[in-house]
Amino acid sequence: DPDTGLAPLQFAVTKNLAAKTTAQREELLRDPVFGTAFTDHMVDICWSVGGGWHRPRVQPYGPLSLDPAAAVLHYGQEIFEGIKAYRHADGSIHTFRPRQNGLRLQRSARRLALPELPVEYFVQSLRELIAVDGAWVPSGADQSLYLRPFMFAKEAFLGVRPANKVNYYVIASPVGAYFKGGAKPVSIWLSEDYARAGKGGTGAAKTGGNYAASLLPQAEAYEEGCDQVVFLDQDRNVEELGGMNIVFVYKDGTIVTPQSDSILEGITRDSLLQLAVDRGHKVEGRDVSIDEWRSGVASGDIVEVFACGTAAVVAPIGVLKGRGFFDEQPTGPLALSLREELTDIQYGRREDTHGWLVRL
Ligand code: PMP
Repeated sequence: DPDTGLAPLQFAVTKNLAAKTTAQREELLRDPVFGTAFTDHMVDICWSVGGGWHRPRVQPYGPLSLDPAAAVLHYGQEIFEGIKAYRHADGSIHTFRPRQNGLRLQRSARRLALPELPVEYFVQSLRELIAVDGAWVPSGADQSLYLRPFMFAKEAFLGVRPANKVNYYVIASPVGAYFKGGAKPVSIWLSEDYARAGKGGTGAAKTGGNYAASLLPQAEAYEEGCDQVVFLDQDRNVEELGGMNIVFVYKDGTIVTPQSDSILEGITRDSLLQLAVDRGHKVEGRDVSIDEWRSGVASGDIVEVFACGTAAVVAPIGVLKGRGFFDEQPTGPLALSLREELTDIQYGRREDTHGWLVRL
Protein backbone atom coordinates (compact mmCIF):
# COMPACT_ATOMS: atom_id res chain seq x y z
CA ASP A 1 0.00 0.00 0.00
CA PRO A 2 1.49 3.37 -1.05
CA ASP A 3 0.27 5.12 2.14
CA THR A 4 1.09 2.61 4.83
CA GLY A 5 3.83 0.54 3.25
CA LEU A 6 1.81 -2.52 4.23
CA ALA A 7 2.37 -5.41 1.82
CA PRO A 8 -0.80 -7.07 0.53
CA LEU A 9 -1.68 -10.43 2.06
CA GLN A 10 -1.02 -13.52 -0.05
CA PHE A 11 -4.36 -15.32 -0.15
CA ALA A 12 -4.55 -19.06 -0.73
CA VAL A 13 -7.58 -19.84 -2.87
CA THR A 14 -9.44 -23.15 -2.63
CA LYS A 15 -12.12 -23.38 -5.30
CA ASN A 16 -15.54 -24.70 -4.32
CA LEU A 17 -15.94 -27.96 -6.26
CA ALA A 18 -19.64 -27.95 -5.42
CA ALA A 19 -20.16 -24.35 -6.64
CA LYS A 20 -23.59 -23.51 -8.04
CA THR A 21 -23.97 -23.92 -11.78
CA THR A 22 -24.50 -20.84 -13.92
CA ALA A 23 -28.19 -21.78 -14.25
CA GLN A 24 -28.60 -22.20 -10.48
CA ARG A 25 -26.86 -18.89 -9.82
CA GLU A 26 -28.93 -17.04 -12.40
CA GLU A 27 -32.09 -18.42 -10.85
CA LEU A 28 -30.98 -17.15 -7.41
CA LEU A 29 -30.08 -13.74 -8.89
CA ARG A 30 -33.47 -13.31 -10.56
CA ASP A 31 -35.30 -12.21 -7.41
CA PRO A 32 -32.92 -12.42 -4.43
CA VAL A 33 -34.41 -12.23 -0.94
CA PHE A 34 -32.15 -10.34 1.47
CA GLY A 35 -29.76 -12.59 3.36
CA THR A 36 -31.06 -15.97 2.22
CA ALA A 37 -28.64 -17.04 -0.52
CA PHE A 38 -24.87 -16.91 -0.32
CA THR A 39 -22.09 -17.01 -2.88
CA ASP A 40 -19.81 -20.02 -3.40
CA HIS A 41 -16.82 -18.76 -1.42
CA MET A 42 -15.83 -16.89 1.73
CA VAL A 43 -12.77 -15.14 3.07
CA ASP A 44 -11.16 -16.39 6.28
CA ILE A 45 -8.17 -14.72 7.99
CA CYS A 46 -6.76 -15.82 11.35
CA TRP A 47 -5.38 -13.60 14.06
CA SER A 48 -3.50 -14.59 17.18
CA VAL A 49 -1.45 -12.90 19.86
CA GLY A 50 2.09 -13.13 18.58
CA GLY A 51 1.08 -14.31 15.10
CA GLY A 52 -0.88 -11.24 14.02
CA TRP A 53 -3.04 -11.57 10.89
CA HIS A 54 -2.14 -14.78 9.07
CA ARG A 55 -3.39 -17.67 6.95
CA PRO A 56 -5.50 -15.51 4.59
CA ARG A 57 -7.73 -17.78 2.57
CA VAL A 58 -10.58 -17.78 0.09
CA GLN A 59 -12.34 -21.06 0.58
CA PRO A 60 -15.65 -22.76 -0.22
CA TYR A 61 -18.60 -21.20 1.61
CA GLY A 62 -19.69 -23.54 4.37
CA PRO A 63 -20.15 -24.21 8.08
CA LEU A 64 -17.46 -23.16 10.52
CA SER A 65 -16.01 -25.56 13.02
CA LEU A 66 -16.11 -24.05 16.49
CA ASP A 67 -15.06 -25.29 19.89
CA PRO A 68 -18.06 -25.19 22.26
CA ALA A 69 -15.91 -23.09 24.58
CA ALA A 70 -15.24 -20.49 21.85
CA ALA A 71 -15.40 -17.19 23.74
CA VAL A 72 -17.88 -15.57 21.32
CA LEU A 73 -20.53 -18.16 22.22
CA HIS A 74 -20.34 -17.08 25.85
CA TYR A 75 -19.36 -13.41 25.91
CA GLY A 76 -20.45 -12.12 22.52
CA GLN A 77 -17.19 -10.64 21.20
CA GLU A 78 -18.40 -10.25 17.64
CA ILE A 79 -18.36 -7.28 15.26
CA PHE A 80 -19.42 -6.94 11.64
CA GLU A 81 -19.83 -4.65 8.67
CA GLY A 82 -22.29 -4.27 5.81
CA ILE A 83 -21.27 -2.92 2.40
CA LYS A 84 -22.44 -3.53 -1.15
CA ALA A 85 -20.84 -4.29 -4.52
CA TYR A 86 -22.60 -2.73 -7.52
CA ARG A 87 -22.43 -3.78 -11.17
CA HIS A 88 -22.19 -0.91 -13.62
CA ALA A 89 -23.63 -0.92 -17.14
CA ASP A 90 -20.18 -1.78 -18.61
CA GLY A 91 -20.03 -4.89 -16.40
CA SER A 92 -17.42 -3.51 -13.98
CA ILE A 93 -17.89 -4.05 -10.25
CA HIS A 94 -17.52 -1.25 -7.69
CA THR A 95 -17.95 -0.80 -3.99
CA PHE A 96 -18.69 2.38 -2.08
CA ARG A 97 -16.35 4.09 0.43
CA PRO A 98 -14.90 0.80 1.69
CA ARG A 99 -12.22 2.54 3.75
CA GLN A 100 -14.99 4.07 5.85
CA ASN A 101 -16.34 0.60 6.65
CA GLY A 102 -12.80 -0.59 7.35
CA LEU A 103 -12.24 2.28 9.78
CA ARG A 104 -15.60 1.64 11.46
CA LEU A 105 -14.69 -2.04 11.87
CA GLN A 106 -11.51 -0.86 13.60
CA ARG A 107 -13.50 1.38 15.96
CA SER A 108 -15.85 -1.52 16.71
CA ALA A 109 -12.84 -3.77 17.33
CA ARG A 110 -11.34 -1.31 19.79
CA ARG A 111 -14.56 -1.16 21.81
CA LEU A 112 -14.93 -4.96 21.91
CA ALA A 113 -11.22 -5.54 22.68
CA LEU A 114 -10.80 -7.38 19.39
CA PRO A 115 -7.77 -6.89 17.09
CA GLU A 116 -7.89 -4.09 14.50
CA LEU A 117 -7.74 -5.36 10.93
CA PRO A 118 -5.66 -2.92 8.82
CA VAL A 119 -7.98 -1.02 6.46
CA GLU A 120 -5.84 -2.14 3.51
CA TYR A 121 -6.49 -5.79 4.41
CA PHE A 122 -10.20 -5.03 4.79
CA VAL A 123 -10.42 -3.60 1.26
CA GLN A 124 -8.25 -6.41 -0.09
CA SER A 125 -10.53 -9.01 1.50
CA LEU A 126 -13.51 -7.65 -0.46
CA ARG A 127 -11.47 -7.67 -3.66
CA GLU A 128 -10.30 -11.26 -3.11
CA LEU A 129 -13.87 -12.49 -2.66
CA ILE A 130 -15.11 -10.62 -5.74
CA ALA A 131 -12.20 -12.07 -7.73
CA VAL A 132 -13.72 -15.54 -7.33
CA ASP A 133 -17.43 -14.71 -6.86
CA GLY A 134 -17.78 -11.64 -9.11
CA ALA A 135 -20.39 -13.46 -11.22
CA TRP A 136 -22.67 -13.20 -8.16
CA VAL A 137 -22.94 -9.42 -8.44
CA PRO A 138 -26.35 -9.05 -10.08
CA SER A 139 -27.07 -6.53 -12.84
CA GLY A 140 -30.81 -5.92 -12.36
CA ALA A 141 -32.30 -2.61 -11.24
CA ASP A 142 -31.50 -1.81 -7.58
CA GLN A 143 -29.75 -5.18 -7.20
CA SER A 144 -26.34 -5.58 -5.58
CA LEU A 145 -24.13 -8.06 -3.76
CA TYR A 146 -24.27 -7.42 -0.01
CA LEU A 147 -20.88 -8.10 1.58
CA ARG A 148 -20.80 -9.09 5.23
CA PRO A 149 -17.34 -8.90 6.82
CA PHE A 150 -17.31 -10.09 10.45
CA MET A 151 -14.91 -11.03 13.20
CA PHE A 152 -15.24 -12.92 16.45
CA ALA A 153 -13.36 -14.41 19.38
CA LYS A 154 -12.67 -18.03 18.44
CA GLU A 155 -10.36 -18.96 21.30
CA ALA A 156 -11.62 -21.86 23.43
CA PHE A 157 -11.40 -20.30 26.86
CA LEU A 158 -14.08 -19.51 29.43
CA GLY A 159 -12.27 -16.66 31.16
CA VAL A 160 -13.59 -13.16 30.62
CA ARG A 161 -10.70 -11.40 28.90
CA PRO A 162 -9.75 -10.32 25.36
CA ALA A 163 -9.31 -13.40 23.17
CA ASN A 164 -5.91 -14.60 22.00
CA LYS A 165 -7.42 -16.16 18.86
CA VAL A 166 -9.80 -14.33 16.56
CA ASN A 167 -11.01 -14.97 13.01
CA TYR A 168 -12.18 -12.53 10.36
CA TYR A 169 -14.50 -13.64 7.55
CA VAL A 170 -16.30 -12.16 4.57
CA ILE A 171 -19.44 -13.75 3.18
CA ALA A 172 -21.69 -12.32 0.47
CA SER A 173 -25.37 -12.45 -0.40
CA PRO A 174 -27.09 -11.12 -3.53
CA VAL A 175 -29.86 -8.62 -2.73
CA GLY A 176 -32.65 -6.99 -4.70
CA ALA A 177 -34.61 -3.79 -4.31
CA TYR A 178 -35.35 -3.29 -0.61
CA PHE A 179 -38.74 -1.79 -1.36
CA LYS A 180 -40.62 -3.49 -4.16
CA GLY A 181 -42.32 -0.81 -6.24
CA GLY A 182 -40.48 2.21 -4.88
CA ALA A 183 -39.62 3.53 -1.44
CA LYS A 184 -42.86 3.69 0.50
CA PRO A 185 -42.97 5.51 3.84
CA VAL A 186 -42.33 3.32 6.88
CA SER A 187 -44.08 3.48 10.25
CA ILE A 188 -41.99 3.79 13.40
CA TRP A 189 -42.72 2.69 16.95
CA LEU A 190 -41.19 4.77 19.75
CA SER A 191 -39.59 2.40 22.24
CA GLU A 192 -40.10 3.78 25.75
CA ASP A 193 -39.42 0.66 27.82
CA TYR A 194 -36.27 -0.56 26.10
CA ALA A 195 -33.00 1.12 25.18
CA ARG A 196 -30.60 -0.01 22.48
CA ALA A 197 -27.49 1.52 24.01
CA GLY A 198 -26.37 3.41 27.07
CA LYS A 199 -23.89 6.16 27.76
CA GLY A 200 -20.43 4.63 27.51
CA GLY A 201 -21.88 1.39 26.15
CA THR A 202 -21.41 -0.27 22.78
CA GLY A 203 -23.99 1.72 20.77
CA ALA A 204 -21.41 3.16 18.37
CA ALA A 205 -19.95 -0.28 17.63
CA LYS A 206 -21.42 -2.63 15.06
CA THR A 207 -21.58 -5.59 17.40
CA GLY A 208 -24.08 -8.44 17.54
CA GLY A 209 -25.26 -7.64 21.06
CA ASN A 210 -26.76 -4.31 19.98
CA TYR A 211 -28.95 -6.15 17.50
CA ALA A 212 -29.87 -8.80 20.05
CA ALA A 213 -31.01 -5.97 22.34
CA SER A 214 -33.19 -4.55 19.56
CA LEU A 215 -35.20 -7.71 18.86
CA LEU A 216 -37.70 -7.49 21.71
CA PRO A 217 -38.52 -3.80 21.11
CA GLN A 218 -38.71 -4.59 17.38
CA ALA A 219 -41.23 -7.34 18.17
CA GLU A 220 -43.21 -4.76 20.17
CA ALA A 221 -43.14 -2.49 17.10
CA TYR A 222 -44.64 -5.26 14.96
CA GLU A 223 -47.34 -5.87 17.56
CA GLU A 224 -48.15 -2.17 17.36
CA GLY A 225 -48.46 -2.45 13.59
CA CYS A 226 -45.22 -0.61 12.90
CA ASP A 227 -42.35 -1.50 10.57
CA GLN A 228 -39.42 -0.34 12.69
CA VAL A 229 -38.51 0.87 16.16
CA VAL A 230 -36.79 4.12 17.15
CA PHE A 231 -34.73 4.36 20.34
CA LEU A 232 -34.20 7.23 22.78
CA ASP A 233 -31.29 7.85 25.09
CA GLN A 234 -31.63 8.38 28.85
CA ASP A 235 -32.32 12.11 28.28
CA ARG A 236 -35.12 11.36 25.79
CA ASN A 237 -33.03 12.35 22.80
CA VAL A 238 -33.68 10.45 19.58
CA GLU A 239 -30.89 8.00 18.75
CA GLU A 240 -31.59 5.81 15.72
CA LEU A 241 -33.63 2.90 14.42
CA GLY A 242 -32.61 -0.72 14.98
CA GLY A 243 -30.54 -0.71 11.79
CA MET A 244 -30.77 2.78 10.29
CA ASN A 245 -29.86 6.36 11.19
CA ILE A 246 -32.51 9.08 11.33
CA VAL A 247 -32.49 12.50 9.65
CA PHE A 248 -34.82 15.51 10.08
CA VAL A 249 -35.39 18.18 7.43
CA TYR A 250 -36.47 21.62 8.64
CA LYS A 251 -38.58 24.22 6.84
CA ASP A 252 -35.58 26.49 6.23
CA GLY A 253 -33.68 23.67 4.52
CA THR A 254 -31.51 22.83 7.54
CA ILE A 255 -30.88 19.12 7.95
CA VAL A 256 -30.42 17.79 11.48
CA THR A 257 -29.30 14.34 12.60
CA PRO A 258 -28.65 13.08 16.12
CA GLN A 259 -25.01 13.07 17.13
CA SER A 260 -23.93 11.09 20.15
CA ASP A 261 -21.33 8.49 20.99
CA SER A 262 -23.99 5.79 21.36
CA ILE A 263 -25.18 5.92 17.73
CA LEU A 264 -23.70 3.90 14.89
CA GLU A 265 -22.11 6.37 12.47
CA GLY A 266 -23.75 5.42 9.20
CA ILE A 267 -21.82 5.78 5.97
CA THR A 268 -25.06 6.21 4.03
CA ARG A 269 -26.03 9.10 6.32
CA ASP A 270 -22.62 10.72 5.98
CA SER A 271 -22.83 10.46 2.18
CA LEU A 272 -26.40 11.79 1.92
CA LEU A 273 -25.51 14.73 4.16
CA GLN A 274 -22.48 15.48 2.01
CA LEU A 275 -24.71 15.54 -1.09
CA ALA A 276 -27.08 17.87 0.78
CA VAL A 277 -24.18 20.19 1.67
CA ASP A 278 -23.20 20.19 -2.03
CA ARG A 279 -26.72 21.43 -2.76
CA GLY A 280 -26.34 24.26 -0.27
CA HIS A 281 -28.16 22.77 2.70
CA LYS A 282 -26.94 23.52 6.20
CA VAL A 283 -26.29 20.28 8.12
CA GLU A 284 -26.20 19.94 11.92
CA GLY A 285 -25.27 16.99 14.10
CA ARG A 286 -26.78 17.62 17.53
CA ASP A 287 -29.25 16.32 20.10
CA VAL A 288 -32.87 16.09 18.94
CA SER A 289 -35.28 15.38 21.76
CA ILE A 290 -38.49 13.46 21.16
CA ASP A 291 -40.33 16.65 22.16
CA GLU A 292 -38.52 18.65 19.47
CA TRP A 293 -39.46 16.01 16.91
CA ARG A 294 -43.14 15.88 17.86
CA SER A 295 -43.63 19.63 18.29
CA GLY A 296 -41.60 20.35 15.13
CA VAL A 297 -43.91 18.15 13.09
CA ALA A 298 -47.00 19.67 14.77
CA SER A 299 -45.86 23.23 14.04
CA GLY A 300 -44.71 22.53 10.49
CA ASP A 301 -41.06 23.34 11.33
CA ILE A 302 -40.03 19.80 10.43
CA VAL A 303 -40.99 19.05 6.85
CA GLU A 304 -39.47 15.58 6.28
CA VAL A 305 -38.12 12.73 8.39
CA PHE A 306 -36.26 9.82 6.90
CA ALA A 307 -34.16 6.82 7.90
CA CYS A 308 -31.06 5.71 6.03
CA GLY A 309 -28.64 2.80 5.85
CA THR A 310 -26.84 0.54 3.40
CA ALA A 311 -29.67 -1.99 3.03
CA ALA A 312 -32.61 0.33 2.27
CA VAL A 313 -30.53 3.44 1.34
CA VAL A 314 -33.36 5.85 2.31
CA ALA A 315 -36.73 5.12 3.89
CA PRO A 316 -39.08 8.09 4.35
CA ILE A 317 -40.86 7.94 7.72
CA GLY A 318 -44.63 8.18 7.33
CA VAL A 319 -45.82 7.65 10.89
CA LEU A 320 -44.42 7.93 14.42
CA LYS A 321 -46.49 5.92 16.86
CA GLY A 322 -45.96 5.81 20.61
CA ARG A 323 -47.87 4.96 23.72
CA GLY A 324 -50.95 7.15 23.43
CA PHE A 325 -50.15 8.97 20.20
CA PHE A 326 -50.05 8.51 16.44
CA ASP A 327 -48.29 11.32 14.56
CA GLU A 328 -48.48 11.34 10.80
CA GLN A 329 -45.21 12.62 9.39
CA PRO A 330 -44.88 15.13 6.58
CA THR A 331 -43.23 13.74 3.46
CA GLY A 332 -41.38 15.83 0.92
CA PRO A 333 -39.11 15.50 -2.09
CA LEU A 334 -35.68 15.76 -0.48
CA ALA A 335 -35.33 12.22 0.91
CA LEU A 336 -36.11 10.59 -2.40
CA SER A 337 -34.08 13.01 -4.49
CA LEU A 338 -31.00 12.48 -2.29
CA ARG A 339 -31.62 8.74 -2.52
CA GLU A 340 -31.68 8.93 -6.30
CA GLU A 341 -28.52 11.00 -6.45
CA LEU A 342 -26.68 8.57 -4.16
CA THR A 343 -27.82 5.43 -5.98
CA ASP A 344 -26.99 7.05 -9.34
CA ILE A 345 -23.40 7.47 -8.11
CA GLN A 346 -23.26 3.94 -6.70
CA TYR A 347 -24.51 2.38 -9.96
CA GLY A 348 -22.26 4.54 -12.15
CA ARG A 349 -25.10 6.57 -13.68
CA ARG A 350 -23.74 9.87 -12.40
CA GLU A 351 -20.25 11.29 -12.03
CA ASP A 352 -18.57 10.27 -8.77
CA THR A 353 -17.25 13.74 -7.91
CA HIS A 354 -16.25 12.75 -4.35
CA GLY A 355 -14.21 9.72 -5.43
CA TRP A 356 -16.39 7.39 -3.36
CA LEU A 357 -16.38 4.41 -5.68
CA VAL A 358 -13.64 1.79 -5.55
CA ARG A 359 -13.37 -0.69 -8.37
CA LEU A 360 -13.13 -4.26 -7.15
N1 PMP B 1 -27.51 2.29 12.54
C1 PMP B 1 -27.48 0.97 12.75
C2 PMP B 1 -27.80 0.47 14.11
C3 PMP B 1 -27.14 0.09 11.70
O1 PMP B 1 -27.12 -1.22 11.91
C4 PMP B 1 -26.85 0.62 10.43
C5 PMP B 1 -26.50 -0.30 9.30
N2 PMP B 1 -25.11 -0.55 9.26
C6 PMP B 1 -26.88 2.01 10.27
C7 PMP B 1 -27.21 2.82 11.34
C8 PMP B 1 -26.54 2.65 8.94
O2 PMP B 1 -25.19 2.51 8.65
P1 PMP B 1 -24.69 2.44 7.14
O3 PMP B 1 -25.27 3.62 6.45
O4 PMP B 1 -23.21 2.49 7.22
O5 PMP B 1 -25.21 1.17 6.58
